[in-house]
Amino acid sequence: MATINNNYLKLKAGYLFPEIARRVNSFAQAHPEAPIIRLGIGDVTEPLPSACRQAMIQAVEDMGDRSTFKGYGPEQGYEWLREKIAIHDFQSRGCDIDASEIFISDGSKCDTGNILDIFGNDNTIAVTDPVYPVYVDTNVMAGHTGDINDKGEYTGLVYLPISAENNFTAQIPSQKVDLIYLCFPNNPTGATATKEHLTAWVEYAKANNSIIFFDAAYEAFITDPDIPHSIYEIEGARECAIEFRSFSKNAGFTGTRCALTVVPKTLTAKASDGSDVELWKLWNRRQSTKFNGVSYIVQRGAEAVYSEEGKSQTRALINFYMENAQIIRQELTNANLKVYGGVNAPYVWVQTPNGLSSWDFFDKLLHTCNVVGTPGSGFGAAGEGYFRISAFNSRENVLEAMKRIIDKL
Ligand SMILES: *Cc1c(COP(=O)(O)O)cnc(C)c1O
Repeated sequence: MATINNNYLKLKAGYLFPEIARRVNSFAQAHPEAPIIRLGIGDVTEPLPSACRQAMIQAVEDMGDRSTFKGYGPEQGYEWLREKIAIHDFQSRGCDIDASEIFISDGSKCDTGNILDIFGNDNTIAVTDPVYPVYVDTNVMAGHTGDINDKGEYTGLVYLPISAENNFTAQIPSQKVDLIYLCFPNNPTGATATKEHLTAWVEYAKANNSIIFFDAAYEAFITDPDIPHSIYEIEGARECAIEFRSFSKNAGFTGTRCALTVVPKTLTAKASDGSDVELWKLWNRRQSTKFNGVSYIVQRGAEAVYSEEGKSQTRALINFYMENAQIIRQELTNANLKVYGGVNAPYVWVQTPNGLSSWDFFDKLLHTCNVVGTPGSGFGAAGEGYFRISAFNSRENVLEAMKRIIDKL
């Protein structure tokens, strides 16, 4: 008799985005004329940079000629892409990262989940609250947690609350944890970590032999020159951190799919016999066994991000979204709402007015303004009383949504 992975039964049944869809659909059915604007989902809206498109068109042509045709590529990604990433994203910022330590993949979502393959099942795991739900759910699936409680927390995980009280940067835990997920600039709060804050985490991780999973999916949105883009800008991070990056948000690759994971060769963790094992070797083995690389065409598209044109086009794309974020911040402040984020990240994190719950504010915004956002409580218990507005939309939609909020809320 076939049995299932029972851990899947512990998962909260796809709660946040399906519940948003349910409420929006029922409102739309009752008010078919309502001009609903969606500032909820964290997906990009603007087209791919032309440099990337041109490179992919050329790559398709390469595939049509026997002499330039490509079959299976290296599981780790093509050397020409990894070299460019190492130079432009890391070495240019003083990070000692070599191309051989970079693994190309089809997404950070899968990498942040798959990385658990190479770690033991007895680690203590810390996540921030609110959090990108993938970190939590993949640990539930792997059997690293108990059941969920009334507040939506799984037993067995260490939750580190982030809120206005601690400037949206988690307090370093007093207890020992083995694996720590950090995401800066943060989804959903839009918060960033200073060099001092990241240094405190690196020191904690080194003192406790912990590993930091650093998700830098939004690094390109940093505008403040003092904010680190990579954890490897911090001394000692090569001994304690894995970094995840993606082309999804900086170059609009959410539907094209390309990302990367950095596993420094200096990173080790303990085997059950007490010996130190290089994590790079395990991740390399994992990827070579379970993954066959990203399409040649897509990797050529990603490579074009580092050309002169690609750089200026992705910069323009990011600036466009960040102008949206600036407009959202300004207008919501004018509407007497307290806002956070949106300066170094494409998300504005709004404190709900008059002590409304996140879901009550969601309903109010939907019904009075026909604007959809994301309830903060959907990202974790400490997100209650907050609301996420995404800057990923057309200028027209952002202006119209803000006008309605000013006029009607
Ligand atoms: C969008 C996003 C990513 C990128 O995921 P992909 O699978 O590469 O598209 C990673 N982390 C966070 C927190 C995100 O919001």
